[in-house]
Amino acid sequence: MKASKYILPTEKENPADAVVASHRLMIRAGLVRKSSAGLYFYLPLGVRILQKIKQIVREEMNSTGALEFDLPILTPSELWEQSGRWNAMGKEMFRIQDRHDLKYALGPTHEESFSYLVKPLLKSYKDLPINVYQIQTKFRDEIRPRFGVIRSREFIMKDAYSFHIDDASLDETYQAMRVAYRKMFDRCGLKTIPVLADSGSMGGSTSEEFMVVSPIGEETLLLCAQCDYSSNSEKTPLVLEKENIPSALPGKKEVSTPGKKTIEEVSQFLGISAKETIKAVALKSEKKKILVYLRGDLELNLHKLHSLLRIADTEPMSDLEIGELGLVPGFIQPIAPNEKVKVLYDRSLQKNLPYVVGGGKDDLHIQGFILEKEISNLPEFADVALAREGDLCPNCNSPLKAEKGIEVGHIFKLGDKYTKAFGIQVLDQSGKARTLTMGCYGIGVNRTLATVIEQCNDDKGIFWPISIAPFEVTLVSITKGEEQYAKAEEFYNVLKNEGVEVFWDDRDLGPGFKLKDSELIGFPIRITIGKKFFENGELSIYNRKKDQEESFVFTDFEDFTSRVESLRQELFAELE
Ligand code: ATP
Ligand code: MG
Repeated sequence: MKASKYILPTEKENPADAVVASHRLMIRAGLVRKSSAGLYFYLPLGVRILQKIKQIVREEMNSTGALEFDLPILTPSELWEQSGRWNAMGKEMFRIQDRHDLKYALGPTHEESFSYLVKPLLKSYKDLPINVYQIQTKFRDEIRPRFGVIRSREFIMKDAYSFHIDDASLDETYQAMRVAYRKMFDRCGLKTIPVLADSGSMGGSTSEEFMVVSPIGEETLLLCAQCDYSSNSEKTPLVLEKENIPSALPGKKEVSTPGKKTIEEVSQFLGISAKETIKAVALKSEKKKILVYLRGDLELNLHKLHSLLRIADTEPMSDLEIGELGLVPGFIQPIAPNEKVKVLYDRSLQKNLPYVVGGGKDDLHIQGFILEKEISNLPEFADVALAREGDLCPNCNSPLKAEKGIEVGHIFKLGDKYTKAFGIQVLDQSGKARTLTMGCYGIGVNRTLATVIEQCNDDKGIFWPISIAPFEVTLVSITKGEEQYAKAEEFYNVLKNEGVEVFWDDRDLGPGFKLKDSELIGFPIRITIGKKFFENGELSIYNRKKDQEESFVFTDFEDFTSRVESLRQELFAELE
């Protein structure tokens, strides 16, 4: 490819709205242009990278025996009604109506479509297991599209769905996907950590997210250095350092706390640590009111709460609703479970220790409150608090370390939610109809691209892993006159004929400009033919990642191409 015939709109200046490196560099290197919030035009260089990532994903999926499909993006509302997600998906789903007033969604994911499609195709246990996938544009009306294509409203996803006669078969495919995901990301030059993830209120059992550690990550990961335990903090069970907290205020009595409502205000006022207090959180879901009590220094983990109660969402109770339960906002005391409200005590609390708790009246707290003495039929303690750095590993009790992570992929055991909703059954070996169990496996293609840039950039620009570089080699020529141009073209043709993926910057521009562009775009290998070559046969070969340039005197094309090929091999080997 010749640059003079290409579109190469590189930019010197950072775009004003870009806060992360990948977003800045994708625009500056001319990979994408912005259309509007969360929507991007891909330009030819960007398209080539996407195609390479898709191809790696496709090859690894195919090698596990998965089958590629292509389903309509437009999905009729009936399919979503059948699974109950037409409502549950809420505002994240883009919805449209056709000329007959029939309702559709632009697919944010395709569990329903694939379930509908495979149901009549599967008749017997002999047809199983099956893993079906597509690589397709998805639509999600994200509340806050941001970080360029990392969280956009239209993006490419590889989504796969597997169907099984039993859990053992599901686990086999799940493990195979786990291995394939590692390979895909390794081949893209991305170091990922699979972390245990929240399977949400949708009733799945096991799920793992593939995370890339990065300061711009939106997820918090808790990792154990001792035993390789890793999980999304949404999911991490809380294991606290066993501390015997000597209470400063052991004897039970009422204490006046005028205007002190928050844990911070109360503990400061009484001169105690927040650990000696009990925090009450009052919430409601569509169906019920919920009161959660936890140790004062901890935060409630809504993901754990929602999974435990199998609810999709909660919101805070209003003061009025708290009042209807006979409680006083800001001074809520521990109560026993009753018909009006679901009461949960977090396992950070100890039933035999004295705590400072709300006093049930304005401006009043109670000290020395011992749960097992005061609350009749104390329910079993639940795990609903957020684990933090320094809390203990649920496997080996070593302290956990926190990192920020970007989620690039997600694998999931779904169970029978969709197979039940769609009645997907086959006859088993004894001729009995059995409902199938299902897994699903997603990868964000554009997010992967951007995450690679987050990991592979320096002050000059991007350095692409060779496997997904827009072109493996760039030839930058600085020529004067037709004769020199023709000589450079000879090098270009030799590389092309050798099957090298080469981008020839033959533009009539100054050397500084062209070299900078090649470093900004990040071609892994650069060959420069300039003044020195025409004077004394000297060429240079540059390794973008190492930022190392080496000069050599041209002897013949065989030597030349073998130098290029050996660096190429070296760069591919780094990805293994
Ligand atoms: P997130 O928590 O980041 O919103 P998700 O859990 O909604 O992600 P999944 O539904 O599991 O994501 O989708 C599978 C993959 O699709 C994700 O791992 C991610 O790589 C990608 N993805 C999801 N939402 C977006 C988005 N808005 N823009 C780009 N990629 C996305
Ligand atoms: Mg999401």
